[in-house]
Amino acid sequence: MAEKRDYYEVLGVEKNANADEIKKAYRKAAIKYHPDKNPGDKEAEEKFKEAAEAYDVLSNEQKRARYDQFGHAGMSGAGGAGGFGGGFGGGFSMEDIFSQFGDIFGGHFGGGFGGTRGGGRSVNRGSDIRVRIKLTLAEIANGTTKKIKVNKYIACDKCGGNGAKDSSSFSTCSTCNGSGYVVTVQNTFFGRMQSQSVCPTCGGDGKIITAKCDKCGGEGVVRDSEVIEIKVPAGVGEGMALTVSGKGNAARRGGVSGDLIVVIEEEHDAELMRDGNNLIHNLNITVATAILGGEVEVPTIEGKAKIKIAPGTHAGKVLRLRGKGLPDVNGYGRGDIMVVVDITIPTSLTSEEKKLVKELSEKPHFKEAESTENQNIFERMKNFFR
Ligand SMILES: [Zn+2]
Ligand SMILES: [Zn+2]
Repeated sequence: MAEKRDYYEVLGVEKNANADEIKKAYRKAAIKYHPDKNPGDKEAEEKFKEAAEAYDVLSNEQKRARYDQFGHAGMSGAGGAGGFGGGFGGGFSMEDIFSQFGDIFGGHFGGGFGGTRGGGRSVNRGSDIRVRIKLTLAEIANGTTKKIKVNKYIACDKCGGNGAKDSSSFSTCSTCNGSGYVVTVQNTFFGRMQSQSVCPTCGGDGKIITAKCDKCGGEGVVRDSEVIEIKVPAGVGEGMALTVSGKGNAARRGGVSGDLIVVIEEEHDAELMRDGNNLIHNLNITVATAILGGEVEVPTIEGKAKIKIAPGTHAGKVLRLRGKGLPDVNGYGRGDIMVVVDITIPTSLTSEEKKLVKELSEKPHFKEAESTENQNIFERMKNFFR
């Protein structure tokens, strides 16, 4: 075997080339020397392999560092971490090279180039099912487990999901001879290329049902319902979706079931309005309490709580109950309850009450309204939205 060329030289890049430059250089070489473009050209094939090997090393940070330090000597299969195992001893196999292509050229080229690889049979997948569940604030605050009944397709129990009457009700598909896929040849800008696709006759099963199961009519699935338990973590919010994998519709004639997607809906709470992890409560107090102070009840997730109102509390004041809000769904602490004070002004008074208020209004501290500066209102709003 001829002496190996320097990997940087192979790709035609500088020693300090970055990952992007290396990728670009390799892409160029791979297109130039691709076997489909140079059929029967041994030299092109060697160049193609050489480039792939160089790319494998230079695109991997660890391998590249090792190569920079020790050269090709550091790349033999014999050495622990960073060694290539069997990979490079006998050269890079074509399959190894094609398997790299997915990330070099994007997914759609993988299939084209990889046409000669063994056929992975396509897997049926059942469809996803979306359901909505309504949660109260308490359920959101503590997390909950819900059991819901979901109407869906489940595997037919009579045929075990394969859709056949019995085990002798199958014949090998004549279109694909049982392989489940068909090979087509296409002309592309790389040249003629083989690609494979799922057999249109058997849908990838490789066999055809000759007598159908009489319960599911050959579909392998039947309509039924299932009670599914859903664990809801604390702190979820309106519109969030939880995925319960494999609990969606069963796949037709065997395969992988879809997912159950549970969308969260918040039940409206008359007293606590949600704002992120905070809860806002609008508290009405009497004129007397606003002036003299007192103790009032406010709602919390756990029930009623008593809070003190300081004498001289004005409308719009925000009292914060720290840590009484909702837990963060990602575990970053807990929100607060913000109690926004409003003062109830009585509207229908008796003549006696009117007389008393009138008397009071003649007293020194009730005589004139203080002008509230706009600045104060601004500060209060800031406090409220913080
Ligand atoms: Zn069946
Ligand atoms: Zn077929």
